[in-house]
Amino acid sequence: NTAASLRERPHCNIGTIGHVDHGKTTLTAAITKIQSQKGLADYVPYDQIDRAPEEKARGITINACHIGYATADRTYAHTDCPGHADYIKNMISGASQMDGAILLVAANDGQMPQTREHLLLAKQVGIQRIVVFINKADLVDQEVLELVEIEMREMLTDFGFDGVASPVICGSALLALRGDQSKFGVPAIEELLEQCDSFIPTPTRDISSPFILPIDNAFTVPGRGTVVVGTIKQGTIVRNADADLLGFNQNIKTTVSDIQIFRKSVPQAIAGENVGALLRGIKISNVERGMQLCAMGSQDISNHYEGSMYLLSRAEGGRHKPMLSKYIQQLFSMTWNVPARVDLVPSDAMLLPGEHGQVRVTLLRKMVMTPGQPFTIRENGATVATGMITSRLP
Ligand code: GDP
Ligand code: MG
Repeated sequence: NTAASLRERPHCNIGTIGHVDHGKTTLTAAITKIQSQKGLADYVPYDQIDRAPEEKARGITINACHIGYATADRTYAHTDCPGHADYIKNMISGASQMDGAILLVAANDGQMPQTREHLLLAKQVGIQRIVVFINKADLVDQEVLELVEIEMREMLTDFGFDGVASPVICGSALLALRGDQSKFGVPAIEELLEQCDSFIPTPTRDISSPFILPIDNAFTVPGRGTVVVGTIKQGTIVRNADADLLGFNQNIKTTVSDIQIFRKSVPQAIAGENVGALLRGIKISNVERGMQLCAMGSQDISNHYEGSMYLLSRAEGGRHKPMLSKYIQQLFSMTWNVPARVDLVPSDAMLLPGEHGQVRVTLLRKMVMTPGQPFTIRENGATVATGMITSRLP
């Protein structure tokens, strides 16, 4: 009964980010312990979270622990990673897409390099809402907490988040884990969860943006024309909608003359639905897997994109040598691949295996890529880099 009612609640993907040793894992354990006492979670002890099994995503090894718990309002899937490199890889590869994040900062340390790096990555991968937890409040005076809060709000603003409205909670994950009922203990965690519930919106299917249908497949219906098949990524397609068929240097105007779901004709289809779209005036030879059908005028093809990229280490099966600008390889994304040139930002930079950085990608053929879209680069069939698009360049 409880399980069933939990499943009906709205769901949110969240995670702890922040500098090493600031208390991310302790906080994660404390949340599960406190919610377990309300029947809203199974308690997951600290050691079990930090001994997360290795995961393989897009050819890279990521240590990440995914923990489920509920509040009165929602269910959460919470990601905690043991090491800094795991966070980088997790975010850049899009392995666990967070709807919002809890940024931890230890009050006795203040913001540190990894605090800033995680926040920058969070921005780049499209996380919009951050809730700040100033941890280890048991170790410092009130004035220090106030100073750290001011600094954190300024940093949020600097990185393009809402430094004024974002909730900032002071507490102690360690006291909370021990069941301490003083204000920095259990009550601080309860306050944190309430703020997550109210400040991080429940993700919804985007059915109002201009539609995008990535094309998985295409076939000909004799006497009717060409049907493209795929799962609608965003928006709503209505019958007779004007559309652009985009990718592999092509930008072809067309009209969606029929939409089918499970071989039945429907007047419209929304994000998440797998559809066949009958296109007016399109020959099957015009269509290639990896093209996108987009609401007319809403997207464009380009050769040039900017992104964040992680170069796999030797131990992960990556390159032995560093990467320099003018690196040319096959780039894979969604269902397509094209030759591409990768230049580092700045252009004279060098990326060692196991490092990450900003890149400019030049595709040999013009494709549609949108911010947040993951990609990989392979050499001789082995993944050597994983990345995410942050912007389209003219
Ligand atoms: P992570 O690397 O961010 O996951 O940090 P951990 O959760 O592993 O915590 C690092 C260290 O800080 C551990 O020794 C914890 O016991 C300690 N710690 C965590 N939270 C608190 C706290 O609120 N107060 C104090 N005094 N120590 C804490
Ligand atoms: Mg940890």
